[in-house]
Amino acid sequence: MTRIFLAAALISMTLIAPASASQFPWLNSNIIGSITPEYSPSVRDDFYVSVNREWLTTAKLKPGYATNAAFTELQDILDARLKDLMTSPDLAGHDADLVKALYSLWLDWPSRNAEGLSELKAIADHITAIKTIDELSEYLMSTESLYHNIVIADYGLGRDNKDSESYNLELGAAGLSLGDSAEYRELTPNGARTKKMHDSIVLYMLRRLGYDEPDAQRLIDSAFEFEKAIAPNMMTHEEINSPEAIERMYNPLTLEELRKKSPVFPYADLLLAHKAESKLMNLQEPEWLKRLNELYTADNLENMKAYLLCNVAGSYITVTDEPAYREYQRLARERYGITGSKPDDELAVNFVHGRLSVPVSRLYIARHVPKQAKIEVEQIIRDTVNYYREMLKSESWMSEATRAKAIEKLSAMRLNAAYPDKWVDYSDLEINPNGTLLEALMALRKFSLKKYFYDRLNTKVDHDLWINDVVVVNAYYRPSENSINIIAGIIGGEFYGPEMSYEEKLGGIGSVIGHEISHAFDTNGAQFDKTGNVNTWWTDEDYKAFQARADRLIKYFDTMRVDPDGTKYNGRLVQTEVIADMAGIKAMLGIAEGHANFDYDKFFRSFARIWRTIHTRERNDMLVKVDVHALAYLRVNATLQQYGKFYECYGIQNGDGMYLPPEERVAVW
Ligand SMILES: [Zn+2]
Repeated sequence: MTRIFLAAALISMTLIAPASASQFPWLNSNIIGSITPEYSPSVRDDFYVSVNREWLTTAKLKPGYATNAAFTELQDILDARLKDLMTSPDLAGHDADLVKALYSLWLDWPSRNAEGLSELKAIADHITAIKTIDELSEYLMSTESLYHNIVIADYGLGRDNKDSESYNLELGAAGLSLGDSAEYRELTPNGARTKKMHDSIVLYMLRRLGYDEPDAQRLIDSAFEFEKAIAPNMMTHEEINSPEAIERMYNPLTLEELRKKSPVFPYADLLLAHKAESKLMNLQEPEWLKRLNELYTADNLENMKAYLLCNVAGSYITVTDEPAYREYQRLARERYGITGSKPDDELAVNFVHGRLSVPVSRLYIARHVPKQAKIEVEQIIRDTVNYYREMLKSESWMSEATRAKAIEKLSAMRLNAAYPDKWVDYSDLEINPNGTLLEALMALRKFSLKKYFYDRLNTKVDHDLWINDVVVVNAYYRPSENSINIIAGIIGGEFYGPEMSYEEKLGGIGSVIGHEISHAFDTNGAQFDKTGNVNTWWTDEDYKAFQARADRLIKYFDTMRVDPDGTKYNGRLVQTEVIADMAGIKAMLGIAEGHANFDYDKFFRSFARIWRTIHTRERNDMLVKVDVHALAYLRVNATLQQYGKFYECYGIQNGDGMYLPPEERVAVW
């Protein structure tokens, strides 16, 4: 569960001491430069480093990147292919025209510079001219607010929790500049870095709009006052990602009920003005809305105006002229400890990919995804599903009733591999290659609103449209439709290759598939039935038994010290993903049992390779705070040390770094 529109490293060359009590149980080898020449552990002491040592100590961070990993290496391959596509002279057709037009508009600095900040200036003038609360309401109901997403309270299309075949309207808070509301209670060092970057961006843009420095700073402080006032009534990142969030954030209501719940802030009228009313609506955070109604007064008018102005000004820094873009790059380098910047043509590729994912995906598949890869991955998915059926039958802590429901859910699962057969129709979209970038963005915004919002509102979900972007290295389980989705982009690199051995394929793409399926059966998945409706199908006893097992795992991860400074790990934050990592390996080991002479060493090494990762210290600190996945070295080491086959394969004994006594192993499945 996420909010509908969540607002979104000088390299530390200090050599960090080898694994010691301060970094229990292994060295955090994901921080660049952490592996000293003396640190060369065996597979029995630190499997992750042992397999990946050469890569970890020689891989570099490319200019403009805070991370290098098997995932990003594969993404680089995809991006290079996209660049070839976008600049290929023989590419023809409507999709190609759209992509080429946006690509060249992004790179056209002279025309971007000529246009400058005029569009933003007009918007800033409108916000500044607001004199009363009524005028603010009127502005929020305007098409300018709609088209530029200038909001105090947000809304977006979702799926109704109890009627997953229908789209609903999700109502929720607008973004906070620090992302996580917990940062407003106690600012962490990571939060302080986010604030510094955010404030610097806004300060720069306000100066460009003609404000002097003290005035610009006053506006930034004033916007922050509004955020500080509302943030304590918003859920924290940890709360939003907890299993309890599903019930807590499900509060269906009618337009009339919304009117009653929001008597001061004109939420219902705003939806009517934007023609966004829906038969099915859900209020994600009632406490937030209550607080907004207290704050929506003349006393806070200037703070709210400042909030809108700062947000919209900041959002333009990447789409206006070249000086603004270069300033953005400088600030991002500082924020994430990055050296150098990506070349402009790569940035243009990323931009077009993000804004035109459907046409880009269609062009990509036609050229780069062989039917054979799709067929082979579909087979591994079916094998994994079959193994899960056996695994569910053998879990002794599950009651018969729950087990039967689990197997039913498994049988009903939608298995989506590589790419869909049906796409959203882009034939109505036109981008004028002789226009400007901002004109193109407005055409895109209007098109997206129509296709992805208005055309879908109050209609049924079309399951054939299961993905819009397949050129990403990703895979996911979607509880609202009980589907696993293994995207074309991840079927490559270290994850899959037609030339790989069967063991390597299982250690790569297979473990990813096993991971995703397990999400149907964890504390989130337990709350969604086989059709994707929220409908808890576990008995209370089963839920308790699962949670008791998860609590042991949380405790184990809580003991970990992931950094030389003794940073504690947050087991609760990563529990669900850790359970899935372990289940993925268990499923593959189960499939392996059916194959004579299975090469376990190849399998374990392939699994360790897909998680090879280095990143900056700053990036690491951010991940420790916000990522619901464990750090890469833990995804490998803490997962593999749960399974007897791993000990057997390498002769791991008490006293080895990878050893965990059988009674202390924490795998839930
Ligand atoms: Zn996952």
